[in-house]
Amino acid sequence: MGDEETKILAKSHPMVGGDGARSYAKNSSYQRAVMNATKEMVEDAIADKLDFKTLEIEASKTFQIADLGCSTGPNTFIAVQNIIEAVEQKYLIQRQNPNSALEFQVFFNDHNDNDFNTLFKTLPPERKYFATGVPGSFYSRLFPEKTLHFIHSSYSLHWLSRVPEEIVDSKSPAWNKSSIQCTGLVKEVTEAYAAQFNNDMESFLNARAQELVGGGLMVIVISILPNGIPMAKTAEGKIYDLLGSCLIDLAKMGLIDEEKVDSFNFPLYYPTCEEIEAIIRRNGLFSIERMKIFAPVVPGEMTFSAERSTAQIRAVFEGLIEEHFGHEFIDQLFINFTRKQLAENFLKSDDLKNHNKIDLFIALKRINTIDSYWSM
Ligand code: SAH
Repeated sequence: MGDEETKILAKSHPMVGGDGARSYAKNSSYQRAVMNATKEMVEDAIADKLDFKTLEIEASKTFQIADLGCSTGPNTFIAVQNIIEAVEQKYLIQRQNPNSALEFQVFFNDHNDNDFNTLFKTLPPERKYFATGVPGSFYSRLFPEKTLHFIHSSYSLHWLSRVPEEIVDSKSPAWNKSSIQCTGLVKEVTEAYAAQFNNDMESFLNARAQELVGGGLMVIVISILPNGIPMAKTAEGKIYDLLGSCLIDLAKMGLIDEEKVDSFNFPLYYPTCEEIEAIIRRNGLFSIERMKIFAPVVPGEMTFSAERSTAQIRAVFEGLIEEHFGHEFIDQLFINFTRKQLAENFLKSDDLKNHNKIDLFIALKRINTIDSYWSM
């Protein structure tokens, strides 16, 4: 645990806890659609790439799974269920002794101040696994060496460990005064965000490479940008810009400090597929087994109204915004945000229909190292 990457501090911005009307649990249908869309990809990766003949698994046959950035549920439970069903299928085919069965332990990880109580209270009663909460940043080590057989992380790795320093430095060419996000329109800003993403991913891969057993699999699902499309031209980028304009409106009304708006930035970065692939190849500790770009089908009942879009954005960003601006004007901000979406007919605009942002499924395998070979 003495390695540099174990000491990285990541800022935490938990999703809205509980299971009330404003909670993440009730306002993360898009993330759930992503989880459902990747079910087959997970099954397929496990069927083809998980090999019990070479997997380092101890005699007690406990299969250890971690979901990193699990939030409060319920999406994480869907992911875990899919993984377990697929692993069981594969084990049935490959087990030597027809009477042997696997037991599962699942580690749910998120930041320390994630609402783990809601997660534990809503664990599926019929689950076939032992559940454990693991608090802490996934940019550091979270587990002992070679203890995990499968790692899953969905919609979490675009959260950087922090906003890059240059972004809030008024003397830097990367000072991002005019926006609350990495729009992709200012070269220096984009480079600073990309460098942070690169460092964070490197820390993530190094930590996971130590924790996964040889032959263990890791699935990463992350939002990406198609090549050549800046964030500002995606639906999400446009919504974030609209939220930024609502903060500027509050500053103009004298309700919040203008300088506070200038220094507020999302610690979010949406890479391209090529960027991620290059980082994984440079890291060299994992082989890329699957890589698939997809766009989840959002079922009819989830189609967005302005209110629904506000609820989803609020469930994710309320904590981050409150931390910077305080609680006083948060309701006002989101009321204005809904009004502005309606006034600008935002959700019907062509730009939004052609939403540009896509998602990426990656299945990686921990390369068997010489020392893991000896411990088999
Ligand atoms: N996987 C869940 C939640 C996605 S929301 C789903 O698909 O519904 C992203 C989650 O990642 C949040 O709960 C956030 O707190 C968590 N997260 C972001 N950065 C993190 C970090 N460095 N370490 C652990 N969790 C992190």
